[in-house]
Amino acid sequence: MSELGAHIAALIAEDGPIPVERFMELALTHPEYGYYMNRDPFGAAGDFTTAPEITQMFGELIGLWAAEVWAMMGRPDPLRFIELGPGRGTLMSDALRAARIAPDFRTALDVTLVEASPSLAEIQHDTLLTSGAPISWASALADVPEGPAIVIANEFLDALPIRQYVRSHNRWRERVVWLEKNGQLAFAPGRQPEPFIQAQGEEGDIIEVCPAAHRLMYSLGARLAKQGGVALFLDYGHGVTSIGDTLQAVRGHRIVDVLTEPGECDITAHVDFAAMARSARAAGAAVYGPIDQGDFLREIGIDTRAKALSDRSPDRADEFEQARKRVAGKDVGEMGSLFKVMVVAHRDLPPPPGFEGAK
Ligand code: SAH
Repeated sequence: MSELGAHIAALIAEDGPIPVERFMELALTHPEYGYYMNRDPFGAAGDFTTAPEITQMFGELIGLWAAEVWAMMGRPDPLRFIELGPGRGTLMSDALRAARIAPDFRTALDVTLVEASPSLAEIQHDTLLTSGAPISWASALADVPEGPAIVIANEFLDALPIRQYVRSHNRWRERVVWLEKNGQLAFAPGRQPEPFIQAQGEEGDIIEVCPAAHRLMYSLGARLAKQGGVALFLDYGHGVTSIGDTLQAVRGHRIVDVLTEPGECDITAHVDFAAMARSARAAGAAVYGPIDQGDFLREIGIDTRAKALSDRSPDRADEFEQARKRVAGKDVGEMGSLFKVMVVAHRDLPPPPGFEGAK
């Protein structure tokens, strides 16, 4: 068992079963043993790869998208340019480099990176050392200074801890993690029924809710509605709320058991975009999408960008084409339709680039 597994087993032995939500929170962000807290999980040598780590085009296009959105907002100066969960800082680095073609935008930027992990914050600091932009760090959105903002979040919401309810003996019960007699962690339905859940379900069905993401969407929606701005969320998930267990653990680019080695594997859940949209709207913001990542990237120019890069470095043309397909293609194993893109914005703004046809 991992160090964190032993720690969680001791917790349960002492105080009883813990909700899945608490388990996921500990697995990812326990200050000492949490998965993100003291490692670099990205890339070929790590556990998983994200779009900005696949290709520079991803961050570049988002940087140019942000410059256009800033112009639509009436060119506020300063602009809070905020990224939630920036990983290695690659997306921000590519975005800031591409934005050099819009010097007024670049000089208006005041960058804040919202990051829970001290070791990833250190890597972000190194990545962005020569970016030339003023950058600060915050551990939560609430700590970011006021003012008009553009917010970017790639594969952030899927890392926030979810709560699960399981249908058991004709009632919904919160799903918990407990300790079996052999000392292994196992899932079980909690004892108390949860009468406030109205959904229909059959024995064994699972419903997921992400309270942390709802809180974030509500406070972000309220902030954008009051102070102006736009937020861009890119993540994997579903457009319509549905039943099912989407909790998943990945280690070394392979799917592994969620409970076997907490702290040593990445744990994520599908994002329920419909639910996210409800909270942002309830706070007074407009919502666009979700649309497929492939459609979004094509709308904002990935085909043209791939061609320009290939023309400039013909020996790398294959590499750019493969990267383009991987992040924007819609075949099995590609990210273009698995990943969705959703925007939360001040209600008075026109639809942002990429969303002209969608509301
Ligand atoms: N956006 C990056 C990394 C995605 S992984 C990329 O696309 O490559 C998730 C990121 O969110 C990591 O940086 C992780 O440390 C951070 N994170 C996870 N939970 C968080 C939380 N509760 N608050 C702030 N950051 C968090």
